[in-house]
Amino acid sequence: MKKSVSLFIFIDALGWEILKESEFLDDILIQKSPIGTIFGYSATCDPTILTGVLPREHDHFSFYAYDPKNSPFRKNLFIQLMRLVPKALSSRNRVRNVAGRIIKRGLDYTGYFNIYNMPFKLLPYFDYTEKRDLYQPDGINSGSKTIMDYMRDNKIPFTQSNWRSPEVENLKTLSDELKDPHKDLSFAYLYMAAMDATLHQYGFPHQDVTDKIAWYDARLRELIDTAKSEYEDVRLFVFSDHGMTNIHEDYDLRSVIESTGLRFGKDYAAVYDSTMARFWFLKDGSEKIIREALSTVSVGRVLNKKELTAWGADFPNNRYGDLIFLLDAGVLLVPSHMGERTLKGMHGYDPMDKDSVASFSTNTDLKDLPIRLENLYDLMKDEADRNLSLNSEG
Ligand SMILES: [Zn+2]
Repeated sequence: MKKSVSLFIFIDALGWEILKESEFLDDILIQKSPIGTIFGYSATCDPTILTGVLPREHDHFSFYAYDPKNSPFRKNLFIQLMRLVPKALSSRNRVRNVAGRIIKRGLDYTGYFNIYNMPFKLLPYFDYTEKRDLYQPDGINSGSKTIMDYMRDNKIPFTQSNWRSPEVENLKTLSDELKDPHKDLSFAYLYMAAMDATLHQYGFPHQDVTDKIAWYDARLRELIDTAKSEYEDVRLFVFSDHGMTNIHEDYDLRSVIESTGLRFGKDYAAVYDSTMARFWFLKDGSEKIIREALSTVSVGRVLNKKELTAWGADFPNNRYGDLIFLLDAGVLLVPSHMGERTLKGMHGYDPMDKDSVASFSTNTDLKDLPIRLENLYDLMKDEADRNLSLNSEG
């Protein structure tokens, strides 16, 4: 028998409001609690989980940042060609998916890449901010070290899922590694992202979500059984990056801004994410006009410096926007640069809103439960160190 292993199981979007209403490994997870998320999407939550630092320090927030000089899309012939294709064709999901794959191939990026609903003619205004695989060495924009770097640097036997692979494959790979007689793991990071899509599609509560949670319950029981047949002590930590909010209203903010008559790329630039709009002011006077237009919108608010600082989303040189307008929880930007149509669920609202809150569960009697996502790093490190010293006692 091998001694001790800690399994960190990431389930995308398994928020506290969802978890507390669900039956999920109830006899195994003796502690379940809310854990504070951070402002933004998985693109910023996940780097915080992996590094233990806030967005201003790891420099990941949203995929697009206004930066025409450094835009990887500027001299791309394929994008120039796509600009000539009529919108009726170029806005189709299948066309965009294929185009996205062709662009990605040309860019040689290893990170998660998706052009989403960004018009081809606007791409050359923006830099893409997740160029490298977060889970591999030098994956973080600022150079911050991740928990995986810690494992590699300290030669701690560990395993991590390939985030590009489907959940079933990741489960199988981990199960095989746990059974491998040549491996004595201290730490494992299992990545499961399918829950997020289910919640976007159906919202909560919904039978498909209940079924999905029951599926996780069953598969994780099998995994725990496998681990227990190999290791004396199997320490389990299940967590998410954020929750999910049901959508009750769509809002077309882009039209409000365009009705000011300001010119995109000359007077201002904007990225319309799903729940926020981020603006860059390129000419004197644009800020005042945009702020006036935003003041007529009753379903959201301009975030002030104090809030952004408290949330760790105050970036040097305003890399991710001079101004951020955040929609009220449950209101979705439609259309946006992320999507053309509405959804049943979305995340990326005020992190303090109850449906934004993430979840944390464990089968251990851990005394100091992590309070926010950035606390998970220290917990993962402590667990790995603990197991390594136990396992090396032989
Ligand atoms: Zn999502």
